[in-house]
Amino acid sequence: MTSFQDPRLPADERLLCLSELALACQDCEMCGLARGRTRSVFSDGYPDAEIMLIGEGPGQHEDETGLPFVGRAGQLLDKILASVGFDRRQNIYIANVVKCRPPGNRAPTPEEMAACFPYLEEQISLLQPKILILAGATALQGVTGQKRSITRSRGQWFEWNGMLCMPIFHPAYLLRNDSRAVGSPKWQTWQDLKAVAAKYQELTGQSLAKTGG
Ligand code: SF4
Repeated sequence: MTSFQDPRLPADERLLCLSELALACQDCEMCGLARGRTRSVFSDGYPDAEIMLIGEGPGQHEDETGLPFVGRAGQLLDKILASVGFDRRQNIYIANVVKCRPPGNRAPTPEEMAACFPYLEEQISLLQPKILILAGATALQGVTGQKRSITRSRGQWFEWNGMLCMPIFHPAYLLRNDSRAVGSPKWQTWQDLKAVAAKYQELTGQSLAKTGG
């Protein structure tokens, strides 16, 4: 198990390690998902970020482009993140629990998540974010190893390996539940990300420029 206690590597060394890891991912055949992928999807975002968002796995658009969260769900995610001041080009790093697309967009199996976890573990270890946002029940399970209801877990901070974690609904779920009414999943996700933004500012002393909600 990787230790998350070591100080962050200097930025250039960290970038090099992340690039090498991304390359290794492209050739990886550690689980059956390798057979169906166009390319593996390692990460996107700012490699000096103090916040890391973890999703489930690549879908069709991600598989085609090699970038996480670029389809409709990704566009919605970017909008919600922007409404609280986060931007993948400036202050957030994004990755998935599995790096290759599960066929038919099914959820990855526990075995596939376990096979891929060393990549995620190393990404977290290199980045050493202060906050992890876990998007959906699969991300929650993939990181903590525990199967928990996202409906009951979302919005509740917990600590894992010295990092604060915030589970939120997966943006694909929000696409299917489009209401923005008070109490709706979209509204709840906005509240959760507002809590993340407040914690981020408290922990880093950095202010965030919001684009509205
Ligand atoms: S999902 Fe992960 S473990 Fe499986 S082949 Fe892709 S990179 Fe390797």
